[in-house]
Amino acid sequence: MPGPGAYWFGKEEREAVMEVMQSGYLFRYGSENDPKFLHKVYTLEKEFANYCGANFALATSSGTSSLLASLVALGLKAGDEIIVPAYTFVASYSSVIFLGIVPVLAEIDESLTLDPDDIEKRITSRTKAIMPVHMLGNPCNMDRIMAVAKKHNLLVLEDCCQAAGASYYGEKVGTIGNMGAFSLNMFKTINSGDGGLVVTNDKALYATAFAIHDQGHSPSRLGVEVGARSVLGLNFRMNELTAAVGLAQLGKLDKIVATLREKRNQLKSLISKAEGFKFRTLNDPEGDCATLCTVIFDTKEKAAKVSNALGSKTIDQSGWHVYANMEHILNYLKQVGQPHTKGSYPKTDDILSRAMNISVGVVDGGLGAGWGININSTDVEIETAAKQFLAACQ
Ligand SMILES: *Cc1c(COP(=O)(O)O)cnc(C)c1O
Repeated sequence: MPGPGAYWFGKEEREAVMEVMQSGYLFRYGSENDPKFLHKVYTLEKEFANYCGANFALATSSGTSSLLASLVALGLKAGDEIIVPAYTFVASYSSVIFLGIVPVLAEIDESLTLDPDDIEKRITSRTKAIMPVHMLGNPCNMDRIMAVAKKHNLLVLEDCCQAAGASYYGEKVGTIGNMGAFSLNMFKTINSGDGGLVVTNDKALYATAFAIHDQGHSPSRLGVEVGARSVLGLNFRMNELTAAVGLAQLGKLDKIVATLREKRNQLKSLISKAEGFKFRTLNDPEGDCATLCTVIFDTKEKAAKVSNALGSKTIDQSGWHVYANMEHILNYLKQVGQPHTKGSYPKTDDILSRAMNISVGVVDGGLGAGWGININSTDVEIETAAKQFLAACQ
């Protein structure tokens, strides 16, 4: 039950992987003078930066390590606070907590992303940054979030893990704040098995993130660097096989998003005649990935009834995407005095209890999107799904 990229694995990915195997170079660094060295990781970084319209991109081992490297690069330290939405994947919190930074949760609105109206009241003297999460492929209201950040002199790290290919009024997500973190795991828009990317327009942030991800080394080289390490780093490197798949998938990203939008719109128009629900707000109707079609019912009873009838579930039941379902995070938050039990974020609780994710490209029971269509669904299959939805709404 993967994301759309996996549905489109094909000869492009297979051939690229074989080329790397035949080259003999599987590590991201190789011999600069050997024409056999394909430097796929380096190329993925250049092409992804170019795709996003960002000055720099860094390939990593995962979305989580992208977030971690970015948080360190931004200079956040133990005890600092970062504002994070109450609805996001667990990694948005765990990457923060691992560094001793305190995640301060804020409400979401009917776009299922960070509610701009709830940010300011969460700001304290320790707040250093905001982490908008472009949840379910839907860009946050970046105009308002950036305005709050500017007013209070806060850094912005965009969690774009679910939103490769999304844009906000013409700007690719990840390039609006100071840094953006992407994931290439199997549930995301494009998939290299695992993997991640960081984008930024700031050279210093890029250099530090690079150093964090590779034992303190400096960027923009193909070969191994000896010495001259400026920063204490770890190893979050991507390897050549992963980048080979990532590059092949990146080549399909625009077509994936266009196809999903078409199928989502088809489904939307067929089910819109049902009563008692609305579609979630799209902060830029032209910019979301359309990986999911999220519906918000008038009542939680109706949401439960419809999702049960379809063998699905309401979003509040979707495990480690909802703050109140993350027992280990809750324990930590309790220790640092942050509100944490169900009911602490009533607006988020209310929306999630009335909402259901219909799969369009990301078919993931863990996200509450085990039912719906996929990127290869035919017109007939979309019509059948729509009929089932309409019947369940009766
Ligand atoms: C998937 C995801 C991550 C983590 O990505 P990994 O590649 O699995 O480490 C972080 N944040 C969000 C919102 C995600 O959906």
